[in-house]
Amino acid sequence: MRFENKVALVTGAGVGIGKAIALALAKEGADVIINDINGESANAAADEIKKLGRQALLVIADVSSEDEVHNMVEKSIEAFGRIDILINNAGISDQIVPTLEQKVDRWQHLMDVHLRGCYLCSKETGKYMVEQRYGRIVNIASVVGLGGLPYRTAYGPAKAGIIMLTKNLAIEWARYNINVNSVSPGYILTEMVQKGIELGVADDKTVKRRTPMGRLGRTEEIAEPVLFLLSDAASFVNGANLPVDGGWTAFGSYGDAFEIP
Ligand code: NAP
Repeated sequence: MRFENKVALVTGAGVGIGKAIALALAKEGADVIINDINGESANAAADEIKKLGRQALLVIADVSSEDEVHNMVEKSIEAFGRIDILINNAGISDQIVPTLEQKVDRWQHLMDVHLRGCYLCSKETGKYMVEQRYGRIVNIASVVGLGGLPYRTAYGPAKAGIIMLTKNLAIEWARYNINVNSVSPGYILTEMVQKGIELGVADDKTVKRRTPMGRLGRTEEIAEPVLFLLSDAASFVNGANLPVDGGWTAFGSYGDAFEIP
C-alpha cells in the first residue's frame, strides 16, 4: 500500500471529489482527517473510512476562517502527532451571472473559501510539515483557472490564484522535502454539477461537446492522479499543475462551443 502510516487531511471531504480522494487514500493505507463545513455527509464519509480499517477524524471547520483552520490543524496534530498529506479541495460554485449583476459579497466569499482557504490550510499544516521535513500537498484547482469562461469572475481568478499559490509554496518549501502540486479537473459529475444540470445553470450537452473525450469525468478519475502526485513515483514533481480534463485544456479555442448567453 502506497500510503501506509501516513496521515492525510482532506478539506471538503464529505462529498464529491474530496470524498473520493479521502477514500482512495484510506484504501492505500492512510489515516484520514475529514474536514467539511457540513456535518452530516462528512460523518458518513468518516464512517466509510473506518469501515476500511483506517482511523478517521472528523473536523467540522470553515476553511476560510483563520481560527477554525488553526483549531482544525491543532486537533489533528493532537490526534495523530503529524500531518503528511494535505488536499486543499473545499470549494463552492460561482453565481454564474453577468459580472454587473454579481454580488460583491458573493465574489469575496468565493475568493475566501477557495484562495484564502487554500492559503490558510497550507500555512497551518505547513508549519508541521516544515518541522517534520516531509509533506505532500495537492491543491484542487480547475480548468477554469487556466482559460476564461463566461460568468466565472470569482471562480476563475480564485482557481488561477491557487495554481500560482501552488508554485510559490513549492519553491519556498522544496528545501524541506515538501512537494506542492495542483490538479485542474475538467467537468466532473459530482452532486454539485448534477444539481447545476438539473437547475439549468450547467449545460452538460455543451460540456460534452467541448470535451474531446465527449463525457464528464468521474470523481475516481481525479482521485487517482492526485494519489500519483502524492506518491513516491512523483517525488521529483514539484510546483506542477496537472489538468485532468478529458482533453479540455488541450482544445485551445472554444469560442464556438461556449456562446456568451
Ligand atoms: P462538492 O461536491 O460541492 O464538494 C465540496 C465540499 O466542500 C462540500 O462538502 C462543501 O460543503 C464543502 N465546503 C464548502 N465550503 C466549505 C468551507 N468553507 N469549508 C469547508 N468545506 C467547505 O464539490 P466538488 O465538485 O467535489 O468539488 C471539489 C473541488 O473540486 C472544489 O474545489 C471545486 O471547485 C473543484 N472542481 C470541481 C469540478 C467539478 O466539475 N465538480 C471541476 C473543477 C474543479 P457544502 O456542500 O455544505 O457547501
